[in-house]
Amino acid sequence: MTIKVGINGYGTIGKRVADAVAMQKDMKLVGVTAHSYSFNTEVAKQKGYKIFTVNSDNDLKLNSIKPDGDINNLLEEVDVIVDATPKKIGKENLDKYYKVKKVKAIFQGGEKHEVAGTSFVAQCNYDEAINKDYVRIVSCNTNGLCRTLHAVDKAYGISSVHATMIRRGADPWDIYHGPINAIVPVLEMPSHHGPDVQTVLHGMEIFTTALSVPSTLMHIHTVTVDLKKRANVDDVLELFNNSTRIRVVRNAENLRSTAEIMEFARDMGRLRGDMPEICVWKEAIGVISNAYNKLLYMQAIHQESNVIPENIDCIRAMMGFKDAQKSIEMTNKSFGIK
Ligand code: NAD
Repeated sequence: MTIKVGINGYGTIGKRVADAVAMQKDMKLVGVTAHSYSFNTEVAKQKGYKIFTVNSDNDLKLNSIKPDGDINNLLEEVDVIVDATPKKIGKENLDKYYKVKKVKAIFQGGEKHEVAGTSFVAQCNYDEAINKDYVRIVSCNTNGLCRTLHAVDKAYGISSVHATMIRRGADPWDIYHGPINAIVPVLEMPSHHGPDVQTVLHGMEIFTTALSVPSTLMHIHTVTVDLKKRANVDDVLELFNNSTRIRVVRNAENLRSTAEIMEFARDMGRLRGDMPEICVWKEAIGVISNAYNKLLYMQAIHQESNVIPENIDCIRAMMGFKDAQKSIEMTNKSFGIK
């Protein structure tokens, strides 16, 4: 069976999901929406993607793009719509379009958990999305925390977690947000990331804090975990090396910073220079020596791309594909990741 997929919201996340869907052997990209004309629409046209309007088609016609219909036409042709519109618009779209047209819909991390009722990270809770009508892919930060904490929890058991998110101020293309010369703490305790992790890793004891910095490349997390069993650094390193969608990076290979990780991704020839794996620094894994059950590590998250494989696995799960491992392998192969 070929799964027919549409993308509503063709920006940072939407254009990446569109390309990823187009790469899957068991999926067909029916088309993408254009809310307003931009270079993104030009690229969609160059790639031969069908383009559907969401408000008026004037903007497209003025720029010599002939739309293939409107969003209702797109929804009539798809099994699953991936909503990648800016936060809160997905919730509006659920009532305005997806429920009316009875189309399965995936939402992104800008929407609240309650919009879909199920939040998703493939390697943690794939089964919860099987045959569901609405599922939310958690945010880039929550995804990064869930991937590594899930691996640690399975191996050692977790009593509690404290993590600090050092967040990029804006995406690289974004000229509207910042900060440009400040470090801005999130003045709420805990930050929303901890409760969000619990929507996937149910019952995990986790407290998070966050701050934004003047950088566009990646987020960094510093994570402190109280374990139920004793650990040593070599075993934790092996655990991360053997976990899917986690990449161990090393100071020894001059990957000391987010800048060098991004350059590495570009040099590997990744599409758009993306790094969908969560990067854990080998030299920044530590175990406190007088209490071997406290683990510390640092990880970097490429916010533009780490949630893209989850969208693909989520599409399969919602369409009833039951084998999580197989889906993850198929998706990983298409991305060239392990
Ligand atoms: P974006 O601004 O890059 O892209 C959003 C796109 O939606 C734009 O092309 C915009 O023109 C279009 N759009 C606006 N209103 C629309 C409407 N009413 N109907 C259809 N399209 C409309 O945003 P993004 O960064 O891709 O974020 C999308 C979602 O993904 C949000 O929920 C966000 O929180 C989440 N997310 C973003 C990142 C990130 O780092 N950028 C990471 C993970 C999750």
